[in-house]
Amino acid sequence: MKTDSTSNLSTRNELYRMLPSVSDLLLAEPLAQLPLSRSHDAVVDAARAALDGLRDEIAEGVHSRQSLSGAIASLPVAIAGELIRPRRFSLRPVINATGVVLHTNLGRAPLSRQALDHLARIAGGYCNLEFDLESGQRGSRDVHVESLILAILGRNPAIADPASTHRAIVVNNCAAATFLALHALAAGREVIVSRGELVEIGGGFRIPEILAESGALLKEVGTTNRTRLEDYETALSPNTALILRVHRSNFSMEGFVAQPGLRELIALGKRAGIPVFHDQGTGLVEPLEPLGIDGEPMFHDSLGEGCDLVAASGDKLLGGPQCGVLAGKRELVDRIRRRPLFRALRVDKLTYAALEATLTAYLSGGSESIPVQRMLALTASQIRHRCEQVTSRIGASGLKADVVPVESVIGGGSAPRARLGSFAVSLKHAHLCADELLAALRRADPAVVGRIDDDLVLLDLRTVDPVSDEALIEALNGLRLAEPRLVDEARSLP
Ligand SMILES: *Cc1c(COP(=O)(O)O)cnc(C)c1O
Repeated sequence: MKTDSTSNLSTRNELYRMLPSVSDLLLAEPLAQLPLSRSHDAVVDAARAALDGLRDEIAEGVHSRQSLSGAIASLPVAIAGELIRPRRFSLRPVINATGVVLHTNLGRAPLSRQALDHLARIAGGYCNLEFDLESGQRGSRDVHVESLILAILGRNPAIADPASTHRAIVVNNCAAATFLALHALAAGREVIVSRGELVEIGGGFRIPEILAESGALLKEVGTTNRTRLEDYETALSPNTALILRVHRSNFSMEGFVAQPGLRELIALGKRAGIPVFHDQGTGLVEPLEPLGIDGEPMFHDSLGEGCDLVAASGDKLLGGPQCGVLAGKRELVDRIRRRPLFRALRVDKLTYAALEATLTAYLSGGSESIPVQRMLALTASQIRHRCEQVTSRIGASGLKADVVPVESVIGGGSAPRARLGSFAVSLKHAHLCADELLAALRRADPAVVGRIDDDLVLLDLRTVDPVSDEALIEALNGLRLAEPRLVDEARSLP
């Protein structure tokens, strides 16, 4: 008598034997005609890839004899279509259902409609990037956003007339802003930093390494958990160029911890005649307290408190394009602006356009048009309602969907302790484990990225644009999931 597994094995071997050879496949129409327009190698490669794909599906238990013969019959047309279709881009949209609002791996902040429209109009033609339309003379690319950034600084009452006291420039990202500032203001001289702030932000951005690369000399003070104002004070020397405060944007410490407030550092800097530089990071310009998130420093408040220079990302809580904003006292920013390195780190018209539109939204009271702001402000009950609608329309066989309460996080190195009450669609498949289901979602079109908790796949809709709910439902209902019987057979194989 045959054992179960040998009978399964013979079923699978039978399925493998049904596959045509590459050379047979190439003789089938319309593939036989294709090499006239495509290189023979390209057609052979595509045929091989398609057969490999079917082999994988057989191994995964996706096919019965009947479904496989259907797939084989449609293979020549599918391969020809693949070859004729314009190349699929490497960079593709994905549905972020992780609940992480600023997901660095998924491109951080989505841009607002206004930013996209402005960007498309500017990028599709010529523009006055460095051309003064009044005088007809060469202009400066800084002007397009500088006055807007300064207007945001003016939100702090302590900065009465930002245009006369401050300046702002934009570079490629916050890492570049920090690097450029250290290079311009402290190369060959000492920068005092607390040992509790010698941090790694992610993507290889480590404060001690950035400092070393910039040519500045690290003067570390205090300990990992506790640094006192006196530690800074005793470290001051004639060779001190800067006091650096790095926002602990992606981690928090509790217990026996202490550090002087930014205000105390600023007062010390003033007494000693040493500028204080705040690597603020998040670019937050609207308070998060109404969302129940306390203690996140705001971009303009650092300068309002008397900080000399601040660096922030454009694509974190500011919700704009990737860039780094450096704002501070005129004299310092002018010195930074004059360095040849600024030219190497400058941003293009696309970034200026997107940033200009984003900053304008804040200044005109329309910050709810900025996706990051909108996602943060969603209430749990709004999200639950959408989860229920999505769940009610999932009809893929073997897939069980529910609505469960979850917590979203801000991510992207911002407010690490903040949790926002949210809801998720939880998915469980009759025969696939959570990892397999998550992988199938990534292969969907558009790709859906979720997370796993307790062997359930969770899709947190806080980070899904409501206009994508329909696409999400389609992606879920179009999933190619293994038939339970065949999965069981595949599992039982040695
Ligand atoms: C995120 C962050 C950075 C790096 O910003 P990028 O724009 O990703 O280069 C630097 N410093 C702090 C404090 C940050 O939070």
